[in-house]
Amino acid sequence: MHKITIIGSGLSGPLLAILLAEQGYTVDLFEKRSDPRKETLSAGRSINLALSHRGIEALKLSNVFNQIKPHLIPMNGRMIHHENGELDFQPYSINPNEYINSVSRGELNKILMTAAENTNKINIHFDHTLTEATHAEIKFYSGRTIPNQGIIFGADGAGSELRKYIDSTTDSPSRTVPLGHAYKELNIAPGDNDEFQIESNSLHIWPRGEFMLIALPNTNKSFTLTLFMPNEGEVSFASLQKESDVIDFFNTQFSDAMPLLENFPQSFFEYPTGRLATIYADNWHTENLCLIGDAAHAVVPFFGQGMNASFEDCNILMDCIKDEAGNWPKVFESYNKIRKPDADAIANMAIENYIEMRDSVAQSDYIQRKKIANTLFEKFPHRFIPRYNMVSFTSIPYSKVYERGIIQQEIISELDSNNIDFEKAERLILERLPLL
Ligand SMILES: Cc1cc2nc3c(=O)[nH]c(=O)nc-3n(C[C@H](O)[C@H](O)[C@H](O)COP(=O)(O)OP(=O)(O)OC[C@H]3O[C@@H](n4cnc5c(N)ncnc54)[C@H](O)[C@@H]3O)c2cc1C
Repeated sequence: MHKITIIGSGLSGPLLAILLAEQGYTVDLFEKRSDPRKETLSAGRSINLALSHRGIEALKLSNVFNQIKPHLIPMNGRMIHHENGELDFQPYSINPNEYINSVSRGELNKILMTAAENTNKINIHFDHTLTEATHAEIKFYSGRTIPNQGIIFGADGAGSELRKYIDSTTDSPSRTVPLGHAYKELNIAPGDNDEFQIESNSLHIWPRGEFMLIALPNTNKSFTLTLFMPNEGEVSFASLQKESDVIDFFNTQFSDAMPLLENFPQSFFEYPTGRLATIYADNWHTENLCLIGDAAHAVVPFFGQGMNASFEDCNILMDCIKDEAGNWPKVFESYNKIRKPDADAIANMAIENYIEMRDSVAQSDYIQRKKIANTLFEKFPHRFIPRYNMVSFTSIPYSKVYERGIIQQEIISELDSNNIDFEKAERLILERLPLL
């Protein structure tokens, strides 16, 4: 069975296709959108993502990382914009070689598609929207159908039609849990001298308790900003209806960003508001069909891990294919079993990180704890690695990261931040944190 079908040519679909092609498979990729490489009009706003270790490892496995590398902008830490206008830079790691990277979703998508086609084993069928999957067939909007036979992967994102079909075959269908918060993307254009208008090698955060604004750099010297806030309530998307409300709100909350925003406040009303949710699915497969990426486990974006986890899925899946020597039902079973606890762990950590980003980063207690964590990391680098670092700069399974993160917080709580008792710290670490 050397022909494979994948639905969805977003981020994980083409990467999986490339990895399968390298193993000798031919792949048909069906994508609802038109080919973005043929768009003659300006592609519009640039939307970017944070790419880190897990995603990079999967891209390296497929040999496309070298093409992506020139499009990355390193972000060495968080630049906190306090309410009083002060700036505070918080590095992501004590190790200078540990940072995350801003990358354009559009560029990444195009590079992956071209690399897929260059294998000569992958055929991308654009303008193919899957509308329904049944036991017998896969139906597209165009009227075309293909039999629901052979191996089919669903890389069709958070709204996956294939997940709906799998749900219909199981007693425990997936659950979508809304966060109650939404997001809106805005822009800072390049400056008059064609330079970045704010510091370029940072992820900027304006933490404001219940809501926050963030900004990531683009290679054309612009920034993409994202406002995250509750859907409803006193300070919420629902409360910002009039132009004057929006201007007052930004003037009060984000006074340094406000004058830099492009086409503002029109952009606020023109750009869509996106809802945020976590998808919890127990069952990611049938006999011949399997979900990867957001289709299986969409998470909220606050750990910058949705894409990274989706790419890592491809790695894990390839390992399962090798381990199970091409017995597909066993491959799917073992991939689902290995990956589900990790998907649940990153889902939890992503929700927790929203509170860290929008609130804790501005609090002195958080800064103290972070200081202790970094000191312990420096002294015991093979046992105590801060949670953010384990998630972003290692391949330690997310579920293990989650468990160790809880233990590390307990250890920090038992130490005096002003006068760390290193003997006690060492005893606690040796007792509770096995060597990595
Ligand atoms: C605001 C925001 C910020 C984010 N920031 C980050 C970040 O910094 N770092 C990070 O790692 N992750 C981030 N993510 C998450 C990341 O975008 C996703 O996890 C990632 O895109 C998942 O990849 P995927 O291939 O599974 O799905 P997608 O990239 O969504 O691709 C799905 C593809 O399937 C196609 N498709 C959908 N339905 C059909 C259909 N019916 N028929 C045919 N084709 C179909 C779509 O057109 C699309 O091309 C962010 C998400 C959001 C919303």
